[in-house]
Amino acid sequence: MPVEEREPEVADLDTTMPPIFGRCPVCGKHLRPRDRYTGEPAAPPVGAGILSRAKCDKCGAIIEYMGNGVWRAVDPVEL
Ligand SMILES: [Zn+2]
Repeated sequence: MPVEEREPEVADLDTTMPPIFGRCPVCGKHLRPRDRYTGEPAAPPVGAGILSRAKCDKCGAIIEYMGNGVWRAVDPVEL
C-alpha cells in the first residue's frame, strides 16, 4: 500500500510574519505598531485619546487607530 506524501502545513506561516495593522491614511505605508511598554507588535487601544495615536515612520503624520485596521489622520489642531 503506497504511502501518500503530503506537503507540510503552512498554517503557522503567520507566526513568522509581523502582523500588519492597516495602512497610514496619508501615505499608504503598511503600519506595524508596537506596544509602547513591551515592544511587542500590537495595535493601540481604540478611543483612548493619545494612547490610540501613533506617528507614521515614513511620512511623519500623526494618526489615530480607529479599530479593525483602520487609521485616520489627526489634524494638527487636535494635538
Ligand atoms: Zn504615512
